[in-house]
Amino acid sequence: MPTKLENEIKKFYEGKGIMITSFDDYQKEAKKTAIYPDEFKITYPALGLASEAGEVAGKVKKILRDTPKEIKTLGDLEKTNQGEMQLKNLAAEIGDVLWYCAVLAEDCGITLSHIANQNIAKLQSRKLRGVLQGSGDTR
Ligand SMILES: [Mg+2]
Repeated sequence: MPTKLENEIKKFYEGKGIMITSFDDYQKEAKKTAIYPDEFKITYPALGLASEAGEVAGKVKKILRDTPKEIKTLGDLEKTNQGEMQLKNLAAEIGDVLWYCAVLAEDCGITLSHIANQNIAKLQSRKLRGVLQGSGDTR
């Protein structure tokens, strides 16, 4: 069941005539807004990705800092005015991370759907082999 925030976001974008339904459609749209010199391909989005990941961490930090102890679930947080705004701001930063992922993948000549499928296949394999927890890129 979609959350209140998901429903609001869906309504907002439907009102603007935007509805991205696949990673590759998103990547095509992201590419249209990627404006930086060719000599900075890969470097620019890689640095932007690191920067935006930091912004996500900052938003989560502030949610943890500012959320009253009585609020124990995401659903409870979403019901408060401050929590609702914090989650919207966090969603926007996650979107910025997604944009840099899409553009970085584009600069590497790889589709976002390929990356998504490859990542899920890796995680499913690890789950089947009982090595989801632990460390090591090649486990
Ligand atoms: Mg940002």
